[in-house]
Amino acid sequence: MTDSKNPETIVLHTGYRSDETTGAVAVPIYQTTSFQFQDTGHASRLFALQELGNIYTRIMNPTQDALEQRVAALDGGVAALAVSSGQAASAFALQNLAWAGDNVVSSTDLYGGTWNLFANTLRQQGVEVRFVDPSAPENFRRATDDKTRAYYAETLPNPKLHVFPIQEVADIGRPLGIPLIMDNTAAPILCRPFDHGAAINVYSLTKYIGGHGTSIGGMIVDSGNFDWGAVPERQPALNQPDESYHGAVWTEAVKPLGPIAYIIRARVILLRDLGSSVSPQNAFQFIQGLETLPLRMREHCRNASAVAEYLGGHDKVTNVIHPSNQTGEEKRRADTYMSGGYGGLVGFELDGGKEAGQKFIESLKMFYHVANIGDARSLAIHPASTTHSQLTPEEQQATGVTDGYVRLSIGIEHVDDIIADLDQALAAV
Ligand code: PLP
Repeated sequence: MTDSKNPETIVLHTGYRSDETTGAVAVPIYQTTSFQFQDTGHASRLFALQELGNIYTRIMNPTQDALEQRVAALDGGVAALAVSSGQAASAFALQNLAWAGDNVVSSTDLYGGTWNLFANTLRQQGVEVRFVDPSAPENFRRATDDKTRAYYAETLPNPKLHVFPIQEVADIGRPLGIPLIMDNTAAPILCRPFDHGAAINVYSLTKYIGGHGTSIGGMIVDSGNFDWGAVPERQPALNQPDESYHGAVWTEAVKPLGPIAYIIRARVILLRDLGSSVSPQNAFQFIQGLETLPLRMREHCRNASAVAEYLGGHDKVTNVIHPSNQTGEEKRRADTYMSGGYGGLVGFELDGGKEAGQKFIESLKMFYHVANIGDARSLAIHPASTTHSQLTPEEQQATGVTDGYVRLSIGIEHVDDIIADLDQALAAV
């Protein structure tokens, strides 16, 4: 165990020391559905939330718990909830606050899967997501009404790679009782949204936190810094009696356990009822990835910056998209909210449109051609013909995807090999 605030130590020591019966140092995979109660009193205390403990793996499990504690500590939060995917994390993060008839204000700059969830599935369930341009933070205030339950954004959204104005939007929401939920998938370690006023973080663990590309998972982290009861009519899910839990009012019921009303509700209501739990096996895989996350993020950043510089000097490249060459307000935000580097993503545009983009992708030898990001291996995709192909040309333009745009997720291979592969593929275009 550790009280350290340093990421390199947290990822190895927080939340677990060794197994009490066997002494095992690696976090064991507790591959069990159920946990035996000590006696009937113990069982009823657990069910009444008078004591926290393991009941059933759909709701909690010691392997998941070690992972949750480590990610919560990394973000400076008080508690976390691991779920089966990043998509489940985004859905739960909003469903924990917004009901039919409510709304959420979200940045337009989102991962496509999140966009679909917000624009279609949540809408069909009665929750309206209002999309606003994040370059002007006041857009969030303008879209707010008395049914707005949360603000939502990504720290480092691709393809534009414009860092979100975290503090500016958090400051608009807080006096109104509206929390800012940040998807920090693309910038773990590099950005700590809670330090800038965000209330909740979500992650796709599938990306950098895993890094190995073996498992799908998600995480919701509670900062513990948001007063859910300050404007009680704003957050009915946490301030009104919950019929499905003996009339518990979450802001009151869990007070003795700490400022964890939000994350407890997500666990004991949403996980209980919707069941998107991560398997102990996958939680174990994420613990393995997490152990090297600080080291890997440094390498991702270093290699991506070198790639951005190389591409900037190439005569077939018309534009490089990377925070290092942004200017004005965008650069200020990148430098305010990220430290230790600008992340592992780099975009660039080629003269010659779609044909050139596709030819480039087909000419790569070492890069993998996949839709994923954040793997230890370098990855590439041509969004106009794949991830963004269902969008109209106008929509593609609005999201920052031009015909010749290529997205790179730079891995941790030797930088010379990364650049050599890009160089030979550019020569073939
Ligand atoms: N958020 C971001 C920023 C992502 O890039 C992704 C996946 O690509 C997700 C959420 C969804 O995560 P998952 O694929 O683990 O469901």
